Amino acid sequence: YSTAVVVDEQPIKPLVQVEHIGLLIDGKFVDAASGKTFPTLDLRTGEVIAHVVEGHSEDIDMDVAAARKAFDIGPWPKMTTYERQKIMLHAADLIEKHNDEIATLETWDNGKPYEQSRQVEISMLTLHEPIGVAGQIIPWNFPLLMFAWKVGPALACGNTVVMKTAEQTPLSVLYTARLFLEAGLPPGVLNIVSGFGPTAGAALASHMDVDKVAFTGSTATGKFILQLAAQSNLKQIRLLELGGKSPFIVCEDADVDQAVELAHFALFFNQGQCCCAGSRTFVHERVCDEFVEKAKIRALNRSVGDPFKSGIEQGPQIDSKQFEKILRYIRSGVDTGATLETGGERHASKGYYIQPTVFSDVQDDMPIAKEEIFGPVQTILKFKNNEDVIQRENNSKYGLAAGIFTQNIDTANTLTRALKVGTIWVNCYDVFDATIPFGGIKTK
Ligand code: NAD
Repeated sequence: YSTAVVVDEQPIKPLVQVEHIGLLIDGKFVDAASGKTFPTLDLRTGEVIAHVVEGHSEDIDMDVAAARKAFDIGPWPKMTTYERQKIMLHAADLIEKHNDEIATLETWDNGKPYEQSRQVEISMLTLHEPIGVAGQIIPWNFPLLMFAWKVGPALACGNTVVMKTAEQTPLSVLYTARLFLEAGLPPGVLNIVSGFGPTAGAALASHMDVDKVAFTGSTATGKFILQLAAQSNLKQIRLLELGGKSPFIVCEDADVDQAVELAHFALFFNQGQCCCAGSRTFVHERVCDEFVEKAKIRALNRSVGDPFKSGIEQGPQIDSKQFEKILRYIRSGVDTGATLETGGERHASKGYYIQPTVFSDVQDDMPIAKEEIFGPVQTILKFKNNEDVIQRENNSKYGLAAGIFTQNIDTANTLTRALKVGTIWVNCYDVFDATIPFGGIKTK
């Protein structure tokens, strides 16, 4: 056992000059707008090491504006990964080269032993570890897919899981979970709760012993789950997969027959109940009339009925709430002046079936163009040119996905870079790959 040693000799004078005391704003070290400074102290003596420039809200504004500009205009996000890598690795080399100076400043400013500054603070190591207990709340539109997307990575990385399935669709996940037990998963690793949002879902999101929650569902519930996390144990909410109103853009050079088929699939797949459904069909004005006529015929030919029958393309909607909501949106489309080309009613006298519905002459400010219908309702909007469709699409509060149908690589390149959405498909739709991330941007 050693006793503490009190060092009372003359403090060592660090050999490093304190050079950078300004605020770093837009590539330059500058004074604060207020002109203020504050002292930073040598903790061994209480003496001032330097007077450092003190930032206030005006300086924060300038810094945020600089970062915003550097992001929106570039070049940083527009550079290739290789170009960014070159700069980042160069910076890492320089940090290594100036290790002594940086460690000296760290110890001088912070008081921690110099060897720790050199070895702990500067040589960095990332160890990937599981987060802990993952709460997962999933919706009803793709119960098994959601189970796979959420449970697979969480378990593979060593986490344990409590999943709450959607009240409408508890069965397939319970069955599949049993197969995991049969495969040898130890008890407690995968737990499934069937139940309702305000009771079971909210209890999971606010639980003090859950380390993270992943959620897919409506934007309103996503916001609520963030609040519950903040009010409980600040659990990590890194993954909220919410709504969308994704454009499917048919350019003037498109083969109209193929475009109609793909746009039809993009919207009507899974009864229109997809977060990334291509639910705003933007069609170039030169091909719009032909497109509308053919889209209407395709919708009329869509086979609707008992989903167990072979050849059926569209089954019933998930429940009476969604069924009524979709019919309300259809009425709103008619009331606000869109042209109902086909559909618009319930299909059959019982069950939650809805006729495949197509609206043309849809305007940007109509609720059917702005809000998530989550049903078999195609809304066709005409556009003039790339600038027009880019500006109108980027006005949307959503930013989940987009589809582009064109034979022109320049158009594809222009649109893929300009549209502010998370995933873009060119000449295809709903194509997923485990190696490619899926998710949206925008928080409004
Ligand atoms: P929802 O957000 O209410 O339900 C999704 C999941 O969240 C379900 O498991 C539900 O039980 C749970 N939940 C609901 N309220 C909760 C709460 N207070 N606390 C914790 N968990 C809660 O969605 P919904 O009512 O089933 O559908 C409404 C709309 O949401 C749809 O019309 C559609 O626009 C959207 N939606 C999106 C997706 C998607 O894939 N992004 C999926 C389903 C629904």
